[in-house]
Amino acid sequence: MRVFFILLILFSCQSTNKSSNEKKVLLISIDGLRPEFYLNKKYPALTLQKLAQENFAVKEMIPVFPSVTYPNHTTIITGVTPDQHGILSNTIFNWNDGPTTEWYWDHKYINVKTLNMILEEKGFETASIHWPVTLNANISYLIPEIFALKGWYEGTTWDLVRKYDSNNIVDEINREKNLSEFKNQKQSDAWATEAAIYLLNKKKPKLTLLHLTNLDKSQHQSGRESLKTYKSLKNIDEHIRSIYKHIDQNTCMMILGDHGFIDFKETVNINKLFFDRDWIRVKNSGEMVSWKVIAHKSGGQAAVYIKDKTLEAEVKALLIKNQKLGYNYVSRSELDKLGAYPEAFAAISAKEGFNIGSKVDSTLTVKYETVGGQHGHLPSHQKMQTGLIAVNCDLENKISKNKIKNTEIFNLILNFLNI
Ligand SMILES: [Zn+2]
Repeated sequence: MRVFFILLILFSCQSTNKSSNEKKVLLISIDGLRPEFYLNKKYPALTLQKLAQENFAVKEMIPVFPSVTYPNHTTIITGVTPDQHGILSNTIFNWNDGPTTEWYWDHKYINVKTLNMILEEKGFETASIHWPVTLNANISYLIPEIFALKGWYEGTTWDLVRKYDSNNIVDEINREKNLSEFKNQKQSDAWATEAAIYLLNKKKPKLTLLHLTNLDKSQHQSGRESLKTYKSLKNIDEHIRSIYKHIDQNTCMMILGDHGFIDFKETVNINKLFFDRDWIRVKNSGEMVSWKVIAHKSGGQAAVYIKDKTLEAEVKALLIKNQKLGYNYVSRSELDKLGAYPEAFAAISAKEGFNIGSKVDSTLTVKYETVGGQHGHLPSHQKMQTGLIAVNCDLENKISKNKIKNTEIFNLILNFLNI
């Protein structure tokens, strides 16, 4: 009898180890994914709708503030808010130069362990395709997100991606899949889809991250309900269908987004308020000379920094008084609760229909004839909510289908992988 129990224990341990060893996760981020795309049949997203109906899907997932791409992608793979992981916005602010146009490409800016780091340290291989803030990361199959910016990096996006990939994986994928250089975001998504399929089948990483971006671009350019947005959605939906064919029973596929979108027809150039009070000085060329108070904007929000502490009360009064221009004032104590901008004095978040700009050589507000799309706003804004569809992830009865936070994804993945 005792022998039988010992054998039973041994057998069950082995089978648990075996099945947990086979478990894998594919995390697909569709930039700008709104839950209605898969909840409402009016949208051209048949695959997403079918997957949502037959598997696990939430009505909304709450992003972190600011609801822009880089902080949220980093929260998804670290489980913490920006004040802890260190990716405060898309681009970097520093006290000497003020707002810069340099993006948080490099993983060195992340202060905590990512899912990739945890798994690679345990001896598993992971893959990442165009996921933000992965440049120079220790990832077995790394194709980072990096694009050319005038004055910062030379060459095209394609050259940069090849320059910073791991073990020439980009060339290997092109050779094996007979692919070539991508030249725009739509082509980049198609390429990334094929790359993900190749890595899933040939390398079988424990975790694969994939970031698809063209739906974000379309919504920025033409708003939430444009023909262009619908076409991009349909195209991305087809990519998901292609990938889904390669998913086995042991692979948890999570499809999620980083933020929603609002439409706007007016921009508030918040730094103009400070420029008019001589708190920002610029040369005739537009180059900044000095600043005392400045807003670092990204999307429909901005963090406000003050060098001269004696101005704090005046700045607060000025920002509160001007909310009627089209934004809400976000106080320091609210930022603490949100886990955002630890060094900022305050922030602003655009109201429905508005965007935030930072020009000083312009009027305070600018109206447009056509609709554009934006995000970045407070996570409490209903239209900033994003989505999550989970296939084979065993989430039933573990989390709410109504509302979850994107800070929860990290632990859900580790729990699924039994780590
Ligand atoms: Zn995004």
